[in-house]
Amino acid sequence: MDLGIWDKKAIVCAGSKGLGRGCAEALAEAGVEIVLNARSADVLEATAREIAGKYGVKVTPVAADITTEDGRKAVLAAGEGADILVNNAGGPPPGLWSDWNRDDFIKALDANMLAPIAMMQAVLPTMIDRGWGRIVNITSQSVKAPIAQLGLSNSARSGLTGFVAGTSRQVAGYGVTINNMLPGIHATDRAISLDSGVMKAEGISMEEAQARRAKTIPAGRYGTSTEFGSMCAFLCSQHAGFIVGQNISLDGGAANISV
Ligand code: NAP
Repeated sequence: MDLGIWDKKAIVCAGSKGLGRGCAEALAEAGVEIVLNARSADVLEATAREIAGKYGVKVTPVAADITTEDGRKAVLAAGEGADILVNNAGGPPPGLWSDWNRDDFIKALDANMLAPIAMMQAVLPTMIDRGWGRIVNITSQSVKAPIAQLGLSNSARSGLTGFVAGTSRQVAGYGVTINNMLPGIHATDRAISLDSGVMKAEGISMEEAQARRAKTIPAGRYGTSTEFGSMCAFLCSQHAGFIVGQNISLDGGAANISV
């Protein structure tokens, strides 16, 4: 399918690996110019080179922490005039409800709520003036089906979801769509780190931890960054202009909810 966005420019935050990279690759495959962000310059630059080489599009790496104001300024400067924004950042650590103090919550809110909101506020005026824009936020299945040990993530991502629910409806009339993608378990470094925690806590092997988790997913497997990226590119396409303010689960059926 021709996504009709070959002349667009996208900012992809936290995109040197995992789900963000999957989104960047799928957009690049559709011909989109990419401004690619992550903190570690070496991995980021290697990813940017690979994507540019594979799809023949311009990929500009910006090594910066997206949860900081300076980091966002650097990304936005390189991504000036962006038509597409993919918001993403690392997820907060798991724990028990009593583990976290105010500073832990502020850190989680900065990364998974306030940073994406600041990025949206920065790019929306240009998108609105142009009459076209696409914003996708990577959140988590925990928004619809909270995960007990991910209290920080549940809290911060619910806040972002609330902001998007209202804002997406305020900007839809200008041709700008905002939607959230809710990953369930995908085979990325984040999943390896969650499975390592289970491995240590239960005294089992990595294979056993992964097999146990896969059994909780009706699809019987982890998702891939490639299929995640394909959905992202579709949401950013010309065909998705009527999809507004949605929370789209990509979880292999793991969250047993009907809407
Ligand atoms: P990942 O494989 O660990 O990749 C994270 C990417 O984000 C890396 O490129 C990393 O590069 C970059 N990054 C992290 N913190 C950043 C920051 N502050 N500023 C800029 N870049 C940053 O993670 P993932 O699995 O793709 O997960 C992406 C998001 O989806 C996370 O918020 C995660 O919690 C959420 N999620 C994932 C799953 C899953 O199963 N994978 C499920 C539910 C939710 P640097 O470290 O070099 O910055």
